[in-house]
Amino acid sequence: MLTDAHCHPFDLFNTLQKTENKNIHLLENTLPDKNILAIGNACDMTDLSFNEKLSRNDILKEKLTLLSSFGIHPQIFKMLNDKLRAFSDYQEINFDEQLETLDKLASEKRIIAIGECGFDLFNASFKETETIQERYFSAQIEIALRYDLPLVLHIRRAIHKIFAFTKTLSKCKAVIFHSWSGTLDEGLSLLRRKVNTYFSFGNTILLNHKQAINSCAHLPQERLLTETDAPYQRRQGEFCSSWRDLLFILDTIAKLRGGLTALEAENILEENFMKGFLF
Ligand SMILES: [Zn+2]
Repeated sequence: MLTDAHCHPFDLFNTLQKTENKNIHLLENTLPDKNILAIGNACDMTDLSFNEKLSRNDILKEKLTLLSSFGIHPQIFKMLNDKLRAFSDYQEINFDEQLETLDKLASEKRIIAIGECGFDLFNASFKETETIQERYFSAQIEIALRYDLPLVLHIRRAIHKIFAFTKTLSKCKAVIFHSWSGTLDEGLSLLRRKVNTYFSFGNTILLNHKQAINSCAHLPQERLLTETDAPYQRRQGEFCSSWRDLLFILDTIAKLRGGLTALEAENILEENFMKGFLF
């Protein structure tokens, strides 16, 4: 079975709608000819309701098992600032209410992971929100610990922030780095610090991202995961990333790990996925 540790089904659907007809079944065309187990990331209730609707869809569910994670995305604070600056009547978001929602969803077992959450310090305007990013990251770790759920991380230009949290993170069931972009040494260092870390790779390893390729080739095999980050991590010449990309990503992992067939890689990645997401 193919496994996708991180995707955004609602955003994928919206992206596809820009070019094709407005029918939920257009998502069917993005599925390869194999069963897929995927974690759909949700940043709000619209995302989550869409995931739940897809997971019940008679046609899609034959091939796609979709489960959900839910979290406050670290980019939201910068985006909200931009909107508040541009539109004086733009409504603030109550993030404490979002936390309550997250807690409730975890208690009701509607989600199987917390996130994506973390830090995005890509440039000056993201860095402006570092303090609030940190506040809500800490709060989300607490919820992950309270419900013993894995944590899915989005970390951009901010790996140093994660090293400041390793003591707390080492108490988490599992910490899953979506689209790992750290160095091999940083990855190994997290494992040495007893953080139960999983490193997820998508199309970056096909896009000549040297650090991701090196990490994917040399980190312990039992720590690797595959993801599409659909629709956001497209291959060259493609309109968006989708579940079909998993086949290319697996092929590339098999080559990088030397001597694996794509099927062997698929089975290893499936086993890792099961352990990482606590099945
Ligand atoms: Zn994402």
